[in-house]
Amino acid sequence: MAEQESLEFGKADFVLMDTVSMPEFMANLRLRFEKGRIYTFIGEVVVSVNPYKLLNIYGRDTIEQYKGRELYERPPHLFAIADAAYKAMKRRSKDTCIVISGESGAGKTEASKYIMQYIAAITNPSQRAEVERVKNMLLKSNCVLEAFGNAKTNRNDNSSRFGKYMDINFDFKGDPIGGHINNYLLEKSRVIVQQPGERSFHSFYQLLQGGSEQMLRSLHLQKSLSSYNYIHVGAQLKSSINDAAEFRVVADAMKVIGFKPEEIQTVYKILAAILHLAIYERLFCWIVTRINDIIEVKNYDTTIHGKNTVIGVLDIYGFEIFDNNSFEQFCINYCNEKLQQLFIQLVLKQEQEEYQREGIPWKHIDYFNNQIIVDLVEQQHKGIIAILDDACMNVGKVTDEMFLEALNSKLGKHAHFSSRKLCASDKILEFDRDFRIRHYAGDVVYSVIGFIDKNKDTLFQDFKRLMYNSSNPVLKNMWPEGKLSITEVTKRPLTAATLFKNSMIALVDNLASKEPYYVRCIKPNDKKSPQIFDDERCRHQVEYLGLLENVRVRRAGFAFRQTYEKFLHRYKMISEFTWPNHDLPSDKEAVKKLIERCGFQDDVAYGKTKIFIRTPRTLFTLEELRAQM
Ligand code: ATP
Ligand code: MG
Repeated sequence: MAEQESLEFGKADFVLMDTVSMPEFMANLRLRFEKGRIYTFIGEVVVSVNPYKLLNIYGRDTIEQYKGRELYERPPHLFAIADAAYKAMKRRSKDTCIVISGESGAGKTEASKYIMQYIAAITNPSQRAEVERVKNMLLKSNCVLEAFGNAKTNRNDNSSRFGKYMDINFDFKGDPIGGHINNYLLEKSRVIVQQPGERSFHSFYQLLQGGSEQMLRSLHLQKSLSSYNYIHVGAQLKSSINDAAEFRVVADAMKVIGFKPEEIQTVYKILAAILHLAIYERLFCWIVTRINDIIEVKNYDTTIHGKNTVIGVLDIYGFEIFDNNSFEQFCINYCNEKLQQLFIQLVLKQEQEEYQREGIPWKHIDYFNNQIIVDLVEQQHKGIIAILDDACMNVGKVTDEMFLEALNSKLGKHAHFSSRKLCASDKILEFDRDFRIRHYAGDVVYSVIGFIDKNKDTLFQDFKRLMYNSSNPVLKNMWPEGKLSITEVTKRPLTAATLFKNSMIALVDNLASKEPYYVRCIKPNDKKSPQIFDDERCRHQVEYLGLLENVRVRRAGFAFRQTYEKFLHRYKMISEFTWPNHDLPSDKEAVKKLIERCGFQDDVAYGKTKIFIRTPRTLFTLEELRAQM
C-alpha cells in the first residue's frame, strides 16, 4: 500500500478503501482527479486519469524522488512502476514489461513516453557516449513513428493509429544498449478516408506545410492542402445517399449493360487497389524496419558481458465502439480481449491459483473469464477468423453477405454472438449486414461490409514486381515479394486477419514470459477538458478494465511472497535462531521462528513452499533490520 499523503487527496491505493464498491471507487477516483492526483495504485497496478493539462510532476526533482525507491514508498506515479520494472530487471535479471491500456485519448502514449524518459534519466550514470547515443535514438524513434503513424481523430488530436510494442535491451550494468519495435495493424484506410473533423497521418501535413519550396517542387507537390483530395480537411457533408445500396445497383447495371464478369471484377480490383493504398503501410513498416536495423543490439557477447535483459513497453489501441464498426475495430477489440485474458491469467487467476496451490485459505472471487470470447474469434476451424478465411478461400465470387451467412449458420447459437438478422423482426436490408459480439467490455455491432476485401488485402503481384524492379533500392526493399517467380506466387498468402491473429498470439506469449507491470489509463471526459470528470464515462471504463475485481483480489491477497529458502537467505541474520544456520526441522519452521521473533506473526501466512506477507510495511521493517545487522 502506498505511502499515504494527506487524506484530503483521497486514498493513494484503492486497496485501502473502506468497502470495495463501485461508488467508493468512483468517489476516490474523482476526488484525486479534482485534486490533481492523477495516479492511484491498486497494489502494483497504476491507474491513471488523463489530466488534459500539463502537470509539473515529471521533472528532474520528481525523478530523483523515485529513483531506486520501493514501489510503496512514494505516492503513486508512472515513475514508481518504471522504477519497479527497472529494479526487477537489474537486480533479479528478470525481463519485465509494462502494459499500458485504455481507450483512445486516455493517455497511453504520453505514459509510455514518460516511462521511457524516466528510464533514460536514471541510467548511464557514468555518461558513456555510446549509451547516450542509444538512449537518444530510442527516444527519437517515438517522434518519427508518431509522424507516420498518428493522426488527429475526433477522440484524440494525436491518436496512435497502430499498436506499438518496444523492447529496450540493457547490458549487465543496467544501461540501454539497443531496442526493437513491433508494430501492429496500421489503420491504413485513413490515407484516403477520414471522418469529418479528422485528418490523415501527420506526415502528409508536415511535408506540405514544412517542406522547402525546392523540395516540394522536386516532388511535384503543391503547398496547398486543398489540392489533395485525400487529405483535404473539410467537413464532409452528411447526405441521404446510401452508398451500400447504390453499389449493388451499379454492379447490376454493369451486368445488364453487358460488362463481362471478369471486367466488372477488374474494375473493382482497381478501385480496391486505389482504396487500399496495402503502399502507405509498406512505407510505415519499412520505416520501423529501418529503425530496428539501427537500434538493434550489436556486438553484445553474453559469454563476456552476461545476460542482456529487456524491458518491454506496450502502447496499444484500446477497446473501440464507434457508430460504424468494421474489420479494423474487430481486430482491435480482439486484441483487447487477448490482453484482458493475459491480465486475468496473470493478475487474477494466477493469484488465486497460487493461494490454492500453497494451501492458503482463499475467498473465491467472481470474475468474468473472457476466454470464451477469445475462442469465439480465434479458435481453429470454428472461430470468426477461420470462417472469414474459409469464405476468402472460395474460388467463386464471395460477398460479405455470404460470409455473414456462414457466421450465422456456424455461430448463431453462441452466447456471445448474434446477428441482427436473427433477432430483428423487421427485414430492412442494412440490418442484414451486421453481426454483434458481446465483448467483455460491452456489445459491439460490426458491419460485414469490406471484411472479405480487407482480409484478402491483395496487392497485385504485377505491381509488386514493378516495385521490386525499381532502380530505387528503397522501393525494391519495400516489396521483397516482387522477386518471387510466378509459380511461387500462386501459394496463397496468409490473410490479414490470420496475420494479425498470429502477431497477437506471439505478443501475448512474449508478454507472458516477462514480469508484467500495468498502467490502466482512464479518459475523464470526451471534451478534452481538464475540469470535467464524467462519472458515467469513467465508471464504464473502470468496469471494463476490471479494476474493482483487481482491488478485491489484491485485498484478499498478500503483497509479497517468497520461497522459504530465498527468504532465509536474505533475512537469516536478523534472528539468532537462523544465523548463521538453523537446526530446525525445515526452512519453513525456521522462517516461522524468525517471524515470531520480530512479532510479525499476524501479518503473514505460511504456504507449502512460500511465506506470504500481507502488508509492505512488514517487508520494509525486515529490510531495515537487515541493514542494521
Ligand atoms: P490513442 O489510443 O488515440 O493513441 P492515447 O491513449 O495514446 O490515445 P495520448 O495520445 O497519450 O492518448 O493522450 C491524448 C492527449 O491527452 C495528449 O495529446 C495530451 O494532450 C493529453 N495527455 C495525456 N496524458 C497526459 C499527461 N500525463 N499530462 C498531460 N496531458 C496528457
Ligand atoms: Mg496513443
